[in-house]
Amino acid sequence: MSKILDINKIREDFPILSREIMGRKLIYLDNSATSQTPRCVVEAIDNMYYNKKANVHRGVHTLSQEATDMVENSREMVRKYINAESIEEIIFTRGTTEAINLVASCFGDSFCNGDEIILTVMEHHANIVPWQLLKRHKRISIKVVPINDRGELIIDAYEKLFTDNTRMVAFTHVSNVLGTVNPVKQMVEIAHRHGVPVLVDGAQAAPHQAIDVRDLDVDFYAFSSHKMYGPSGVGVLYGKKKLLQAMPPYQGGGEMIGHVSFEKTTFAELPFKFEAGTPDFVDIAAFATALDYIKSLDIREIESHEEHLLELATKGLEEIPGMRIFGTAPHKSSVISFLVGNIHHYDMGMLLDKLGVAVRTGHHCAQPLMTSLGIEGTIRASFAVYNTEEEVAQFVAAVKRVAAMF
Ligand SMILES: *Cc1c(COP(=O)(O)O)cnc(C)c1O
Repeated sequence: MSKILDINKIREDFPILSREIMGRKLIYLDNSATSQTPRCVVEAIDNMYYNKKANVHRGVHTLSQEATDMVENSREMVRKYINAESIEEIIFTRGTTEAINLVASCFGDSFCNGDEIILTVMEHHANIVPWQLLKRHKRISIKVVPINDRGELIIDAYEKLFTDNTRMVAFTHVSNVLGTVNPVKQMVEIAHRHGVPVLVDGAQAAPHQAIDVRDLDVDFYAFSSHKMYGPSGVGVLYGKKKLLQAMPPYQGGGEMIGHVSFEKTTFAELPFKFEAGTPDFVDIAAFATALDYIKSLDIREIESHEEHLLELATKGLEEIPGMRIFGTAPHKSSVISFLVGNIHHYDMGMLLDKLGVAVRTGHHCAQPLMTSLGIEGTIRASFAVYNTEEEVAQFVAAVKRVAAMF
């Protein structure tokens, strides 16, 4: 547990947390889907609309320059947050999904018939479907790393999937269902030994732990602002400069060009080559405020608070008869998926909502994982910095109460 964070004070930054649902105090445990937004971030959005709105990178006028500075300041904040070498390696996208699509489409452009991609069975659909779409143009194949009973990737099996035709490895840093924190550094080392670049889906890691892309030595890293106390509509793709430079652009339009004529168009330098059209400059600017907010709390303190909540929730749930927890790796992030007896996940989710508890139910955009577990879906509770021990206790009591109804 964090000894430093004053959680009740932090909660005051999030007005939505004082809402009532069905006459009960809201207990928001769907943070893996999206986190709530602190007042300072909403105010940053307001301020942009009221006082600073102008299109970026185009105007000579003061407002346009101020807006440009805010977007570029945000890029520098992101660079620092993940310890990238240069702002040229930070590309703003609409989210993790678009970031992965960008890599699949642009890096995948160089793949040939017969090439192979390695994914894992625990991937979010956002890290499966973009690679499958490549099959429209190329005969590539996808190989899948399996998991063990605890929900950890089997590293021996992973290593055996490499062949001379392997062109790419893409996997999630943290499973959005099992909570497993994958051994990124070790997996990157193995891939690099085979000369294969690695994309890591960081959507569930970036909000919960310190990220150092240089230490991990990942080639691409993707994450979303809305899962880390920031506004919706903004994501980040980090890519090593050398790889980004060699890739063709993603979309065409303004911002991404050097010079345009009908005979020949040249493209802008990094990172603008991959940012066609007017970006979501309001939300990008406000994302900087969210990163500042995380920094003010300290990501390591956030991590240890959430770890404590996960431990409490796990202990509490384990005492309920018929409880099955999916994902029991020793190294887990603050996500807990479960089923109780024969109770349908949807029924449990609906009844928990009536008790004020917001959880997610279903396949969590990870249907291949559900298939491998032999289930259709789970109930998932996921924690953020503003969740409290009391909320966890109330959540466990609510699950108990619903379980007793069946
Ligand atoms: C949420 C999530 C995504 C998709 O993020 P978007 O913000 O919807 O683009 C991808 N991968 C994982 C692991 C996720 O949790």
